Amino acid sequence: MSTERPLSDRVLMGPGPCNPYPEAVAALGRPMLGHLDPEFVQILDETCDRLRTVFRTTNPRTVPISGTGSAGMEAAFVNLVGPGDVVVVGVNGLFGERMCDVATRCGADVVRVDAPWGQSLDPAALLAAHPSPKVIAVVHAETSTGVRNDVEELGAGKGDALLLVDAVTSLGGIPLEIDAWGVDVAYSGTQKCLGVAPGLAPLTLNDRAWARRVEKPQSWYLDLGMIGEYAGTSGARKYHHTAPISMVFSLHAGLGALLAEGLEAAWQRHESCGRALHEGLERLGLELFAEKGHRLPELTTVVIPDGVDDVAVRRTLLERHGIEIGGGVGPLAGKVWRIGCMGHTARPRNVTLLLAALGEVIG
Ligand code: PLP
Repeated sequence: MSTERPLSDRVLMGPGPCNPYPEAVAALGRPMLGHLDPEFVQILDETCDRLRTVFRTTNPRTVPISGTGSAGMEAAFVNLVGPGDVVVVGVNGLFGERMCDVATRCGADVVRVDAPWGQSLDPAALLAAHPSPKVIAVVHAETSTGVRNDVEELGAGKGDALLLVDAVTSLGGIPLEIDAWGVDVAYSGTQKCLGVAPGLAPLTLNDRAWARRVEKPQSWYLDLGMIGEYAGTSGARKYHHTAPISMVFSLHAGLGALLAEGLEAAWQRHESCGRALHEGLERLGLELFAEKGHRLPELTTVVIPDGVDDVAVRRTLLERHGIEIGGGVGPLAGKVWRIGCMGHTARPRNVTLLLAALGEVIG
């Protein structure tokens, strides 16, 4: 029997992208519109409204930035951080490290607060790291380790600081309350729990952050002054850059599918799939890597048992069963697998399939 499977048949259980919602895939084939066509403008407006619902915010400045999640990260930093600004960054994985790099390139005075990879950050340590930072930055869901960092306490204790949150792997998958938790700016990516292809970075920024923005950000493309022009939040809409029309169609449709299910129902689906996955992996005798109590349902890290060939297992899963899982990154390369259960992929049948296939492959 051939082990070949068509690409469209892949079960994407890596750290991202996930399998997009069928509605999001179909929307990619919609006939093209001009980016100032009233019909497109309406779809963009509705997309921003849907993003506000998913972010749980009323921020007018809520928009899909053209670019992947990293463009969202850059946009958040370059607009808020200038030379000499103090930025406290929580680092317990690859994406916290990347925040330090981006903030440093903005000329920030970066104050790192580290926790070991696999452990969550201590919010009290972040709040105590500096008496008056301009920004406190944290990754809500660390995709490199499968750990959730607590955001709510940071919002409650931030004082005058702006709270900047990476929600790339959390938005749509686990509870995140931008307004209720006092998050000043957050960004995400389309390819994870939102169930859309990679390519856009939903971003939301409140009035408080807007009032303290950098006057002339070093990036022309990511200057959030463009939001008013691009998304029409400042009145007249005019050309800034050509919108990635098909991706906006797709995000609009993916968010439509998500909201038809209900945001809280989607959180619940991620939670129950994640729990079933965690329990099933432990039944296979595997050890979960992330700290108990802070494990993400949408991204699970598993310790690779001694004597098991990391690459061979992942290759066999892909070739024999059409299932993709991810390897470890940085210090975790060769030590853990990363199993995503995000967006449209987060279904009980995919959990069952993965557990059966992994059990067979590792014997
Ligand atoms: N932040 C987190 C937590 C991520 O997981 C990722 C990507 O996996 C990024 C930022 C960067 O996003 P992208 O790869 O879409 O640029």
